[in-house]
Amino acid sequence: MSAQRLLVLGTGGTIAGSASSATGQSYAAGDITLEVMVANIAALDLEVELVARPIAQIGSQDIGWPQWSALHAEIAAAQGDADIAGVIITHGTDTAEETAFLLDLTLDAGMPVVMVGAMRPADAVGSDGIRNLLNAIRVASDPRARDRGVMVVMGDTVFAASDVRKAATSNIDAFKGYPRGPIARVTPSSLDWFAPAHRIGSTKRFPWPEALPRVAILTAGAGMDAMPVQALLGIGCKGIVIAGMGQGNAPRVVLDALADAVRAGVPVVRSSRVDEGMVDRNVEVDDDALGFAAARALGPAKARVLLMLLIASGITDAGAVQAAFDGG
Ligand code: GLU
Repeated sequence: MSAQRLLVLGTGGTIAGSASSATGQSYAAGDITLEVMVANIAALDLEVELVARPIAQIGSQDIGWPQWSALHAEIAAAQGDADIAGVIITHGTDTAEETAFLLDLTLDAGMPVVMVGAMRPADAVGSDGIRNLLNAIRVASDPRARDRGVMVVMGDTVFAASDVRKAATSNIDAFKGYPRGPIARVTPSSLDWFAPAHRIGSTKRFPWPEALPRVAILTAGAGMDAMPVQALLGIGCKGIVIAGMGQGNAPRVVLDALADAVRAGVPVVRSSRVDEGMVDRNVEVDDDALGFAAARALGPAKARVLLMLLIASGITDAGAVQAAFDGG
């Protein structure tokens, strides 16, 4: 590994977590400062220079607009700095997919941006944090990592932002990718890419917005009625993602209420509460008649991120929303 300068942006999470006991279950996310984490890595004498910049010290369940804006500004500045080879973001795992996808959609590809977390706190037996961080350093400093946009490194695997999701609550290998699985395998001593870079020459799909609109995810359940939809409209939701049954389905009364929402100017995207798979148009639900968009390969959390950016850009028409979910 040749000596390179990497910017490390810290936000907290379990990778910076400390436990009351090395064998206990409870711990506090974001307790350990980024400076301490980077000093621990520096002691390993790697041929990289890490520039630490703390953004927050929180569990990622609390991440939102202020931290996302700060991350975006720091990375955009780093992309214009010829002395920086790559960016690493330490992040809680709960919402890693949202932050990764939001940044991927709003940043030019080119410089590697690698998010990393851990499933076990830094001082737990068998902690995965240092290993994941070493893996992230290997990825961020590899020239072949360029033009892949934002990636997530967890459990010796590398995922693209558009594919990744947390699929287990506590396993070390908690992350999965859909429709692509891992795009590389990484260890502290090796890195194997499985495919060519997928964002060569691609620029950001959206400008960084001035604010993000209120968009809710509503999970469908058997026997539910239309009142949750009406409640969301009542609090001024600007968009709704339904985490539907199967291929994004919901009880008839709920679909009818969602069609009313569309008629009132609130875009509705159908995704699935099922772990993985496509949600396509007009399979069982008549999207053409009801005015919905189908989330295709995106699960509810990523569908919400894309819908927020679309609405922030003034795009609410069902056809244009569908085109964006189709990748256009
Ligand atoms: N809920 C915390 C977070 O997402 C801890 C989970 C984790 O980092 O694995 O930051």
